[in-house]
Amino acid sequence: MEFAFSPEQEALRDMLRTFVAKEVRPKAHTWDTTGEFPGETVARLGGLGILGAMVPEEYGGSGMDTVSYALAVEEIGKGDGSLGLTVASHNSLCVSHILSFGSEEIKRRYLPDLASGRKLGAWGLTEPGSGSDSLSMRTRAERKGDRWVINGSKMFITQGSVAGVYVILAVTDKEKGKDGITAFVAPSGAKGLSVGRKLHKLGMCSSDTAELVFEDLEVGPEAVVGRVNSGFRDTMKNLAGGRISIAALSMGIGLGAMQEALAYARERTQFGRPIADFQAIQWMFAEMATELEAAELMTFRAAALKDSGRPYVQEAAMAKLFASEAAMRGTIKAVQIFGGYGYTQEYPAERYMRDAKLCEIGEGTSEVQRIIIARNLIRGR
Ligand SMILES: Cc1cc2nc3c(=O)[nH]c(=O)nc-3n(C[C@H](O)[C@H](O)[C@H](O)COP(=O)(O)OP(=O)(O)OC[C@H]3O[C@@H](n4cnc5c(N)ncnc54)[C@H](O)[C@@H]3O)c2cc1C
Repeated sequence: MEFAFSPEQEALRDMLRTFVAKEVRPKAHTWDTTGEFPGETVARLGGLGILGAMVPEEYGGSGMDTVSYALAVEEIGKGDGSLGLTVASHNSLCVSHILSFGSEEIKRRYLPDLASGRKLGAWGLTEPGSGSDSLSMRTRAERKGDRWVINGSKMFITQGSVAGVYVILAVTDKEKGKDGITAFVAPSGAKGLSVGRKLHKLGMCSSDTAELVFEDLEVGPEAVVGRVNSGFRDTMKNLAGGRISIAALSMGIGLGAMQEALAYARERTQFGRPIADFQAIQWMFAEMATELEAAELMTFRAAALKDSGRPYVQEAAMAKLFASEAAMRGTIKAVQIFGGYGYTQEYPAERYMRDAKLCEIGEGTSEVQRIIIARNLIRGR
């Protein structure tokens, strides 16, 4: 059992730490309060190879393993949860779906732009009326000769209004349930694909979240990602990998908040002593650090299992569940350590806390993770 990162992974981590310290942390508060999408910084991450993290070099990507990718998401999340979410959703939802299931033609057409960051990717599963129960989606794709006509809408889509490439899940055979859903890819600007309202959120404020509307969006047979009617099963596989990135993002947010709280607790004096001297504060740090360490072990183990081709669905769900809830508990403690200042936007603790909440909801809520974990246990998997 080896618990060390490789020299390449350490170099990646150090490079991103420097980038985040210079380019992300100082700007995160402004992005959060204005809600402005940090397009320039995202483009620079493209230049660093982070937007094609797991894409093989032949398609213009960095060819990283999942452990390295998780490390990258964690480091970015330490500086800014929203930016971490942009990176995670682009890579783990849109790019990964195309990479894992797309035809060679689709990969050659879309991956180089996505991997370089020339275009951002969005992935649409959730709808206004269907989230956890994604199988009850209402977006339909109907055959018209050898073409497909898509009608419906999607809700809460990350990069919804800034993406250049969209992967969209739609019902293609209503009678077949899980075997009646297909994934399609469409570029921004396609006739019939429009962006609905942009959503204003509790946290992750500079991550772009929007509604998508499809009105007779017509695509050819070459736009099918995977096989016709295999979209739902492919989606479940895609989401299992995505959970590792949300677990990594959770760790980043939790650790980022802890670092800020540590610095504050060493400086802030009450009763003539730094508040870090008080046992009540020390215990909060001890609990935060222990839970986040456990989250790291679970997350990197799930990533390592995926890299070695072994089953990882259960471990990814457990890592996502534990890490997101540990981040939530940890960031609440960070706000408490900052006292009254923690409740203001003068310090970043409250931003981390608001950002952490999304990790308990996106890519399957904590309740859904518990259902997956229990179901696997009961079925003996
Ligand atoms: C900021 C943000 C970004 C997102 N990005 C994307 C994206 O890029 N692409 C995309 O497709 N989706 C995206 N989503 C959607 C996200 O995946 C869903 O919000 C999530 O899966 C929950 O679905 P829902 O919001 O419809 O809640 P619901 O499914 O309506 O759930 C409401 C509550 O009921 C609980 N619940 C539901 N079913 C059960 C059950 N069987 N047992 C116990 N409890 C249950 C849930 O856990 C939750 O607490 C995003 C959401 C947000 C907020």
